[in-house]
Amino acid sequence: MTTPAPELPKHYLERCAVCGEPTKNRCSACFQAGMPLFFCSAEHQNLVWPEHKSICGKNARSPYAPPLTPESAASFLRVSTQLVEFTSHVKLECAEIWQALLGEYLPPANSPQEMLVNALPWLSKPQRSVKQEIALDVALALTYRGEVARKALIDEQTLPFNTLDPWHHVKFLEIQLGTVLPEGIDGGGLSVETSRFRHHALILVSLLRRKANDPSTIPLGCIHGAFELLVNSANDAIVFDFSRDGQKAQKLVEALLRPVKNFVPIRCEWEFAPDESKVLRVKCSTP
Ligand SMILES: [Zn+2]
Ligand SMILES: [Zn+2]
Repeated sequence: MTTPAPELPKHYLERCAVCGEPTKNRCSACFQAGMPLFFCSAEHQNLVWPEHKSICGKNARSPYAPPLTPESAASFLRVSTQLVEFTSHVKLECAEIWQALLGEYLPPANSPQEMLVNALPWLSKPQRSVKQEIALDVALALTYRGEVARKALIDEQTLPFNTLDPWHHVKFLEIQLGTVLPEGIDGGGLSVETSRFRHHALILVSLLRRKANDPSTIPLGCIHGAFELLVNSANDAIVFDFSRDGQKAQKLVEALLRPVKNFVPIRCEWEFAPDESKVLRVKCSTP
């Protein structure tokens, strides 16, 4: 767990993904799979293991979420007739989006809604081709965008971290990231560059879930540290230009912070690292 890491990209922070403390200890399974993820102690690694295991090790590089739980899959049925922006010019019902993107892989159906019903058992199968995975991920992203946006609006952006599937929140954070990517979430946002972001998002969400269930279990400092690492991981997907991208950085930090600060006291200051202008550094504290 302590072999020196020779080739880490410059912007990576060698800090615990859970508490943010400097450490050289990596998750060895993730590291072998090419994903540099650090944990200061077995205690902190174990704290998020129930969720982290789903993308640890050989799955580390996968840019795709694991299969949905039956509960998550069923939530799509509830939103199947709601309208979502499909492209910048076209709005479709969620079920129509699924039909357009995944219809060729699923049994024939008489309506988009029926197709979505057919898709539910397929969602729980982990074996899919890369092409199918991409189509599924886009379908999920679009559907979540609609569903979560609506929920966020209704609840004034207070999504309960302990009542929805963790991947729901990870997807929501990815969508926040996607809002500042030039290609948006549908294109570049789903590339392998978001894999590390997804790892850190899942860790942050795991901690917020624990804290929502029992506030005494997770120190505030851990949420702050995990959030700093999440923002740092966005540097994999976004190249900032120090001289021009102040607004972009501000927008990203605000978008990621919004769902978090409804649940925990958190203030966040950011700057471009002075020695490496493309790197966004954040420092969280209690307001
Ligand atoms: Zn730690
Ligand atoms: Zn791991």
